[in-house]
Amino acid sequence: NLTDRLESAFKQIKGEGRITELNIAATVKDIRRALVDADVNYKIAKEFTDKVKDKALGNKVLTAVSPGQLMVKIVKDELAELMGGSESDFNAKGNPAVILIAGLQGSGKTTFSAKLANFLKTRSRLSPMLVAADIYRPAAIDQLKVLGEQIQVDVYSEPENKNAVQIATNAIREARSKNKNVVIIDTAGRLAIDEAMMTEVANVKSAVNPQEILFVVDSMTGQDAVNTAKAFNDRLNFTGVVLTKLDGDTRGGAALSIKYTVQKPIKFVSSGEKLDTLDVFYPERMAQRILGMGDITTLVEKAQQQFDEEEARKLEKKIRKNQFNFEDFKQQLEQIKKMGNIKDLLGMIPGVGKAIKDIDISDDAFKGIEAMINSMTQAERTDPDLINMSRKQRIAKGSGKDLNEVNAFLKQFEQMKQMMKMMNKMPMGRMGMKR
Ligand code: GDP
Ligand code: MG
Repeated sequence: NLTDRLESAFKQIKGEGRITELNIAATVKDIRRALVDADVNYKIAKEFTDKVKDKALGNKVLTAVSPGQLMVKIVKDELAELMGGSESDFNAKGNPAVILIAGLQGSGKTTFSAKLANFLKTRSRLSPMLVAADIYRPAAIDQLKVLGEQIQVDVYSEPENKNAVQIATNAIREARSKNKNVVIIDTAGRLAIDEAMMTEVANVKSAVNPQEILFVVDSMTGQDAVNTAKAFNDRLNFTGVVLTKLDGDTRGGAALSIKYTVQKPIKFVSSGEKLDTLDVFYPERMAQRILGMGDITTLVEKAQQQFDEEEARKLEKKIRKNQFNFEDFKQQLEQIKKMGNIKDLLGMIPGVGKAIKDIDISDDAFKGIEAMINSMTQAERTDPDLINMSRKQRIAKGSGKDLNEVNAFLKQFEQMKQMMKMMNKMPMGRMGMKR
């Protein structure tokens, strides 16, 4: 993949004392090939590496950094630049604000619509309404309804109406009367660019005058993603791009070329099917990720969002005094779950992503544990020593586990407590989170 290829390109220059036209040539060529292989258009890759080369040669190598480090930095900066430099605005203000979602079938429009609604509801404290304007697949309405229910956002639909423009206009009227301040219109897509589809979305656009028109594209479609983006942009003049399925093995070819080709910012990246896995797109972080530096900044931010510092300190004290109990554990599990998909989180730690790529880590792993904790009384949770044989049997029955499983869990918990106590004594024991 791109990350590995760039890594080995950098290796070539690592030992060099200074950057020269001669010793940079092979590295530059490798970077270009790596980009092309990652679905970056040749012309873009060439322009990119020319720029990197100019910068590298024009740079006086400081004694503090090696030429290799300097190259990594230059490449990272240029990658970020190629993807738009800094993050772009997202405009969800209006009465109501109207956001139109467009893209090919299967690109992830419906899933993204729900993720965006959830994002605006929880992070921006807005009151969103989802609109099912995919009139061709009967199942599309149900799909959106199910998602809407999960995030408790109203879904507007007219199952009998086959006119997307009418549905959209009616929806906005409905939103106003229900005091919804943002309307997200999920439209129909086709498997390939198709005139009828384009006309329909364009008609919806002129009828509802959206603040934001987001083009949704599957990042796994590589070079095709760029062509599709171009076709949609020519017709809709969209305001931004959403890259979905970034949880797959593709690491950015599309992200790199799209901004360059259509000159529209990538606004969101979406990974995974859970509805809270939507992130604002930060070019700098994406560049770091492509270079395999691990998206530590995102990880830390996510963690900080969830962990109250005061709580953390209290918890630490409890761990040190060996008073960590099931109630605390349960709260920790909740926190971790709120942070999103566990595999995604682990993947952001440098060096870990690759290692766990093929391992199945599902959030379900916690379900059994939670069931057992839920079957404990408050007294048992705060004082695990209380749990005797008859209590164990009751917990087993209550959680649908057998006695062995309860025993194993209690034992593991004890071991974990000891381990946490030990880790807490080591200066580097924790993930380096600010506290
Ligand atoms: P639409 O046809 O554009 O509305 O696409 P959907 O939202 O129905 O998504 C198509 C398929 O891709 C569904 O099976 C989704 O669950 C899946 N999907 C959507 N977004 C993502 C994502 O970010 N990651 C992964 N792995 N799957 C996704
Ligand atoms: Mg859909």
